[in-house]
Amino acid sequence: MSIQLSIRDLNKRFKTGDGVKGISLDVMKGELVTLLGPSGCGKTTVLRSIGGFLAPDSGDIQIRGSSILHLPPEKRPTAMVFQSYNLWPHMTVYDNLAFGLKLRKKKKDEIRSLVQEALKLVQLESAEHKTPGLLSGGQQQRVALARALLLEPEVLLLDEPFSALDAKLRMEMREELRDIQRRTGMTMIFVTHDQEEALSISDRIVVMRAGEIEQLSTPQEIYDQPQTLFVAGFIGRINLIKGTGTGRSVAVGEARFEQERAHDGAVIAAVRPEDVYLTEQETNSLPGMIRQIMILGHYAEVSVESGEQVLKMFVPREQSARLHHGQQVRIGFSRVVSFPSPGA
Ligand code: ATP
Repeated sequence: MSIQLSIRDLNKRFKTGDGVKGISLDVMKGELVTLLGPSGCGKTTVLRSIGGFLAPDSGDIQIRGSSILHLPPEKRPTAMVFQSYNLWPHMTVYDNLAFGLKLRKKKKDEIRSLVQEALKLVQLESAEHKTPGLLSGGQQQRVALARALLLEPEVLLLDEPFSALDAKLRMEMREELRDIQRRTGMTMIFVTHDQEEALSISDRIVVMRAGEIEQLSTPQEIYDQPQTLFVAGFIGRINLIKGTGTGRSVAVGEARFEQERAHDGAVIAAVRPEDVYLTEQETNSLPGMIRQIMILGHYAEVSVESGEQVLKMFVPREQSARLHHGQQVRIGFSRVVSFPSPGA
């Protein structure tokens, strides 16, 4: 696979002092890479720099080996899909899609077949003659996506495209986007602050914090092997517990557990709720009391008070039916990733 987009030491500092620092990133052809991080961490700044809507202070952005920094947005081999769909309200869906192709002096027959193909791709054949106002938010976003795809960009930029949609539709659109991306082989950069969205659609995730890259890995690695406490806390649900490390072992209270990475001294042990289990064993387990049981469909989220902390665990439905508020239990951890304690 070849490198489609290369960002080299990108820097942008706004007057306020915010911005991005030393961003470097290679995106392979056909890859979907997500920029993920809390509000203000610089995701949009990176995306807008790629699209040409913002001039970086230094660094380079290349597509297939050539710098694009000197090009205005409309000359760049990129297209952008925004959270607000930016469709022309008085034009039909067909005309919204055909517009860019007409500007490119494509022939009428070709435009017709390209637009119909694009509408089929986003499953909107029936909306061809409607104006955007008659469509739902999800449908309008599909039109915006089709319009961007018709420009055949080398890199498609998506800026929180689904954040205005309700939860159910957002899930559907994720699946659809992923499907379209596989079918077209298009390279995509997707911006979101929704970690679940990032985990579900990306080939790789760039976790950003305060203008810098905190971790760049596959969703699985980000989830299982967070490199920093920030990534551990930001992605997915997690318990953060004070402990003391000795090599590959970590002591929490009286109990000892194996840890994924060796650390000595004061640590924060990070344990996902699915890695906390109930046990009868007296050794290497922690005593606790059940504080709350929340049924969440096929599993329950159980809060266990142990010492000063309240730990969350996920329990299958049939097991949770046998638990009750106030019950004394013992818990163990099947997987612990720990980090040197920030205060140590
Ligand atoms: P969000 O999810 O809220 O959109 P983000 O991660 O996309 O956040 P950016 O929009 O890239 O963050 O902004 C990064 C930082 O730079 C923020 O602190 C923001 O306030 C600041 N910033 C962005 N654009 C400008 C600008 N034109 N002038 C001054 N400061 C800006």
